[in-house]
Amino acid sequence: MILADLDARQAKEPDVHGARLFGLVYPTGRDDIDELALEVNRRYLFGNALNPFKFPELAALETEVVAGVGSLVNLPAAGGGSMTSGGTESILMSMLVSRERARARGVERPQILTPVSAHPAYAKAAHYFDLVVVRIPLDETYRADVREAERLIGPDTAVVIASAFSYPYGVVDPVTDLAALAAEHGAGCHVDACIGGFVLPFLERLGRDVPPWDFRVPGVTEMSADVHKYGYVPKGASVVLHRDEDWFGHQAFLFDQWPAGLYGSPAMAGARPAAPIATAWAVMSYLGVDGYTEIVRDLMTTVAKVRTAVDALPGIEIVGDPVGPVLALRSDTIDLYAVGDVMDDRGWNLNRNTDPPGLHLMLSPAHGAVVDALLADLGDAVANHGESEGKAVRYS
Ligand SMILES: *Cc1c(COP(=O)(O)O)cnc(C)c1O
Repeated sequence: MILADLDARQAKEPDVHGARLFGLVYPTGRDDIDELALEVNRRYLFGNALNPFKFPELAALETEVVAGVGSLVNLPAAGGGSMTSGGTESILMSMLVSRERARARGVERPQILTPVSAHPAYAKAAHYFDLVVVRIPLDETYRADVREAERLIGPDTAVVIASAFSYPYGVVDPVTDLAALAAEHGAGCHVDACIGGFVLPFLERLGRDVPPWDFRVPGVTEMSADVHKYGYVPKGASVVLHRDEDWFGHQAFLFDQWPAGLYGSPAMAGARPAAPIATAWAVMSYLGVDGYTEIVRDLMTTVAKVRTAVDALPGIEIVGDPVGPVLALRSDTIDLYAVGDVMDDRGWNLNRNTDPPGLHLMLSPAHGAVVDALLADLGDAVANHGESEGKAVRYS
């Protein structure tokens, strides 16, 4: 009865396995990966990762996940980090650490210098931690404009942000220039690889042209990478990394001024679900670098199909030069919001961008099986659409 009720309610929502959603979930279409995640969750669902002394094996799994992501993004041996509940928490922790570093050198109102295309989590961090956001305009390639960043950076800059790659356009900011600029001013540089962290390492292995973006770039001090996106682990799994393990001390919170002994936690949460940690470890171990590389190879075949089809649609073009599976579409002649409405009616939940106004596609591996239908509907919708219904543009 209870389950039937839930089934009925869930049936009113988009199917998370159906490959008709973009960006919110990352279906692989692979039963083996889904089964593994389900089995691990059966085992760890009731756990709590709060106390590493009681559950040292769980703590070790987290350490191994952090080390695994670290090796993907070339974190130096002196680096460290932790798992968090998601990209937002990873970014919050990183911004907190940058604030503490800035305060230590006497900055009273530390600033986050961030491209306008960066994720809202930076504004959220500023709101939570009393930081000031200074926004870098984009250049004509939709990447952070380095000249503007040079103009805007100053003694109060705590950290410079670069997305690798950005959510709105899927393009990689000029990480080398931004990190060098940050270092020159004694600021940190956070690379937001929430999406790219589990895509770019494998694109590189496939021999694709990927601009420098990870800890190999001098001046990059922190990074966020989400295991619950292109790492194909259910929600609740991300990693925040620091070039210098000592900085992790600013992130962790210790307290013993209460009657129940020393309390410590590495990030925002107190009690922490164990399942995302164990699932991240399991899926990453199961797929390995070769498994992820294969998935990304197939994914890029789907991306190429979409790009070719979009290029053939008169009046519609891809925004900027996206490096991976996130594409933005723009048009000067066609109302893409009206096209999006038709796509919605056909069951595709395409996202919208506001600047430039258009559609946003975050392609997942499972879209490979439906890409022909998607493109047929898109072509149809472009040829036959009415007025836009004027729906509000919402993130994901
Ligand atoms: C998803 C995302 C985030 C935030 O991550 P959550 O897991 O949603 O909290 C940050 N940056 C980028 C580029 C993202 O795509």
